[in-house]
Amino acid sequence: MSNTIDNLLHEARRFPPTEEFAAQAIADAGLYERAAADRLGFWADQSRELLHWHTPFTRTLDWSEPPFAKWFDDGELNVAFNCLDRHVLAGNGDRVAIHWEGEPGDTRTITYAELTAEVKKAANLLTSLGIRAGDRVAIYLPMIPEAVVAMLAVARIGAIHSVVFGGFSAESLRSRIDDAEAKLVITADGGWRKGRVFPLKDAVDAALTGDATSVEHVLVVKRGENEVAWTEGRDLWWHDELALVDADHVAKAFPAEQPLFILYTSGTTGKPKGILHTSGGYLTQAAFTHKNVFDLHPESDVYWCSADVGWITGHTYVVYGPLANGATQVMYEGTPETPHPGRWWELIEKYGVSIFYTAPTAIRSFMKLGRQHPQKFDLSSLRVLGSVGEPINPEAWMWYREVIGGDTTPIVDTWWQTETGAIMISGLPGVTTLKPGSAQVPLPGISVDILDEAGTPVGKDQGGLLVVTEPWPSMLRGIWGDPDRFRETYWSKFGDKYFAGDGARYDKDGDIWLLGRVDDVMNVSGHRLSTAEIESALVAHPFTAEAAVVGAADETTGQAVVAFVIIKQNQLEQTEALDVAAELRKHVAEQIGAIARPRDIFIVSELPKTRSGKIMRRLLRDVAEGREVGDTTTLADTAVMSSIQAKLS
Ligand code: ATP
Ligand code: MG
Repeated sequence: MSNTIDNLLHEARRFPPTEEFAAQAIADAGLYERAAADRLGFWADQSRELLHWHTPFTRTLDWSEPPFAKWFDDGELNVAFNCLDRHVLAGNGDRVAIHWEGEPGDTRTITYAELTAEVKKAANLLTSLGIRAGDRVAIYLPMIPEAVVAMLAVARIGAIHSVVFGGFSAESLRSRIDDAEAKLVITADGGWRKGRVFPLKDAVDAALTGDATSVEHVLVVKRGENEVAWTEGRDLWWHDELALVDADHVAKAFPAEQPLFILYTSGTTGKPKGILHTSGGYLTQAAFTHKNVFDLHPESDVYWCSADVGWITGHTYVVYGPLANGATQVMYEGTPETPHPGRWWELIEKYGVSIFYTAPTAIRSFMKLGRQHPQKFDLSSLRVLGSVGEPINPEAWMWYREVIGGDTTPIVDTWWQTETGAIMISGLPGVTTLKPGSAQVPLPGISVDILDEAGTPVGKDQGGLLVVTEPWPSMLRGIWGDPDRFRETYWSKFGDKYFAGDGARYDKDGDIWLLGRVDDVMNVSGHRLSTAEIESALVAHPFTAEAAVVGAADETTGQAVVAFVIIKQNQLEQTEALDVAAELRKHVAEQIGAIARPRDIFIVSELPKTRSGKIMRRLLRDVAEGREVGDTTTLADTAVMSSIQAKLS
């Protein structure tokens, strides 16, 4: 991208770690040195230190058949044993693993000993239903502890889970079941959301009618207490079946490269891909990043990641990372605004949360509602904040730090993907001087670069395409059933360098700024402009709560910038009589330059987002260019597109 990111750099404040924080921090600068001196040795050490290997490995990386990597491949381990039994054996069975809170306010406190006992029974149940190592199990559950139990039980017997987000439709569920040929579905009667029970079992029934399926049984957890239809012989109640099985279960060792799960990407840019992850490397990087990026002190911290287990963030930073590290965490079933807009902040106060990890989309929606809600609660237990999912604009970063973090907490902006399995780019809170808006530096042991179209690395103060230049432990091992798409999507552009699909830029200090997806980059009169940059400029204006920018075909400039903007709630009255679009166009021109001035600005009340909260710009591009809108199956709320189209016509 030829344009500068000076606009993003208008926020000039920098936040070095305090002496006090650095003194107690888990990670120090020595980590970078050790990894730089011997990258593979570094990962081998981490893996031995962080995990229990039933059979120690002697080989670290086999990259003889790129892009198919094998890590620690002559070692054997059991992923669930690492997340459960070993903590109990080490004397930490009484430590709380999960403080669970249901949306209606019911709670459960589950210790490591209790979680281990539950998973053992569930593993026996799966075995009794004929599930064997390598079989696929679809999990379609709300955010209840059984989701964690189900995932770990599948892992414990060497089977493969495919978690499908509970908000997805019957069709989306069916396509994922078919793609993975799942033998079993684990679901619930229903779950709580926005003060009501939403049915899940109905969607499973609808998904399984029609053509013959691979599914033999459906296990149903009782949660919503709603009426459900029943197919005798196929459907089984989870609690009834668990009461019948043995309580004891010995975790067997599986090879390091035993497949662990398939997870479909968010579908922000197109049809979701079934990303395959395996065991030893994945768990190593999950544990390493969770411990070091969040500065986890498992004996004293209370950690909370707000992601749903249906996303990669929920896999790595609700289930595998925290449990491998023996952390105590909060898990919440419902939505942030139920029954009041301060529910999350209330939970942080109630459980004394010290580490909190969420997404920019959530932060911006809280900004839109105003700081009066978090200010009703005592958030002083917080000491580390994290962000993931989209670029976090400096404006939102500062709000997060000041309003949620009491102007003291470090914020780690973590870049990674379903494909990378774990965090790749992020500061370390006890080491890095943090810069609002920048994800900054690759983690120790991770090698990334920014290349131009020809594959040449760009220098400081230049932009291009983000790549990972060396294999990493938690890298995807493929796209389920589609090795050609795997090669084509990630490895055809730059050979054995992994092409992430994101645009990025180095600043003058060599820190990395994520600029949005390559598919979303705009080309205006020959200038490549970043969506993230223009959106940040718009959000920096006091009127704006959220903004999405796309490039639409334009006769004179090739593409023109079109912006969709949501006005802050408390600004609605003031802005009524103003020409808001003109004001914002002027503002962007001042902040970035005339070239970036949006041709059109549409004031809307909502933006189309994936169910994981990411803006789906390709749909806005369809609207801006007057096309019929494309595939909306991964959209959180399909009504949003009609309301936007109505505004435009
Ligand atoms: P699909 O690949 O199907 O279009 P997706 O890319 O949205 O879906 P995910 O794997 O959930 O699915 O998201 C990864 C993407 O999220 C990254 O490629 C990047 O675009 C964005 N992202 C994640 N974290 C950050 C971050 N800290 N800063 C900027 N962008 C981020
Ligand atoms: Mg992606």
